Amino acid sequence: MPHYRYLIVGAGMTGDAAVRGIREIDSSGPIGVIGAEPHPPYNRPPLSKGLWKDQSLEQIWRGTGSLDVELHLSRRAIQLDKSGKLVVDDRGTVYTFDKLLLATGGRPRRLPFDREGDRIIYFRTLDDYRRLRELAGAGRRIAVIGGGFIGSEIAAALTMTGGQAVMLFPEDGIGSRLFPAGLAQALNQFYREKGVEVITGELVSEITTTSGNTVLTTKSGRRIDAGGVVAGLGIQPEDQLASAAGLRTDDGIVVDEFLRTSAPEIYAAGDVAKFPNPALGTRIRVEHEDNANTMGQTAGRNMAGPPAPYHHLPFFYSDLFDLGYEAVGDLDSRLTTIEDWKQPHREGVVYYLRDGRVRGVLLWNVWGQVDQARALIAQPGPFSRQDLIGRLPA
Ligand SMILES: Cc1cc2nc3c(=O)[nH]c(=O)nc-3n(C[C@H](O)[C@H](O)[C@H](O)COP(=O)(O)OP(=O)(O)OC[C@H]3O[C@@H](n4cnc5c(N)ncnc54)[C@H](O)[C@@H]3O)c2cc1C
Repeated sequence: MPHYRYLIVGAGMTGDAAVRGIREIDSSGPIGVIGAEPHPPYNRPPLSKGLWKDQSLEQIWRGTGSLDVELHLSRRAIQLDKSGKLVVDDRGTVYTFDKLLLATGGRPRRLPFDREGDRIIYFRTLDDYRRLRELAGAGRRIAVIGGGFIGSEIAAALTMTGGQAVMLFPEDGIGSRLFPAGLAQALNQFYREKGVEVITGELVSEITTTSGNTVLTTKSGRRIDAGGVVAGLGIQPEDQLASAAGLRTDDGIVVDEFLRTSAPEIYAAGDVAKFPNPALGTRIRVEHEDNANTMGQTAGRNMAGPPAPYHHLPFFYSDLFDLGYEAVGDLDSRLTTIEDWKQPHREGVVYYLRDGRVRGVLLWNVWGQVDQARALIAQPGPFSRQDLIGRLPA
């Protein structure tokens, strides 16, 4: 029965960052990592960006194995006994620990009618990337379901590599949940000019596959032929292991500012963790790289040394063909938005406000302003349009 001073469930970016955080303080304490994927930790963002451009596969690995850690890969932790301080994996191996980190991330949402789940690539992992590359390489027209982060990045990646993509989603525009209506509409137009077929306001109700050809049927009766289907429908936190063990969960594993769960010596971080954020004054769960890296490292340091609060407000980013953005805070298009464009929908800043306070900032093709945006979110306000126009120079 392996025993570890530090056991980490989840060999993703957060798991790797936690190993590094531990090693900053404790250079020799035994660390074990259990990971369901067959691969050691790698960077996920290149799967929908860099790997379709000039980045090579060798560049995505995080090198966790060189940090004096035992990796138990292709193994899923299926049981946690919080008082016995042990974890059991799907091969029956029992691991005991002094301190445990749950870095289990999220699992992709599936289409409700898709029972088998093998015809559709719910894009999340390196193996999903490889499957899609194979399909796209065969020159097939790919249907991309979803107009959020994954759908918009994959449609761009397929098109930039000479493939054909047809995007469909129920909202009016690409990124509608994040962006003000005008920007989402402009993105539809931008994608169409780049060669993507963009179908808005459509829900897929059925998918049938016969001899390699796939037909998607929408709720309104439209039929779309494709050689493959990718779906980006968001994720759900992978928190069942924690909830079954009696840890507090609420759309993610609930942690305090030191990233401790409701059980002693058990921590959680990354996409799965719901943490208090002082700047926003509420508990949030963030599904982005900066959070995985920074929170993972803080969790590792807190497991190995004196606890420090995690007060970081993470930023995130995306690339859409040759457009790109960075953003901080709550980007919810239902909030009041104030748009400050230097060049309409090409370069500018969008502020998201609730009750006069800035809750989020979108920096559209504007770089180097993330810290200023964070500072603005921390200020009590209230802010008016005049206060904000020109505030963060494009
Ligand atoms: C294609 C793609 C592109 C992205 N691009 C961006 C971007 O441009 N910018 C940005 O900010 N963010 C981006 N993200 C988000 C970012 O990658 C995630 O926030 C980050 O990967 C979260 O890391 P994590 O380790 O917390 O969770 P995950 O990446 O989900 O990793 C968790 C790992 O734990 C494993 N696991 C789960 N349960 C168990 C269990 N019971 N036992 C063992 N192992 C288990 C999973 O298999 C997985 O490998 C992107 C994500 C994807 C998928």
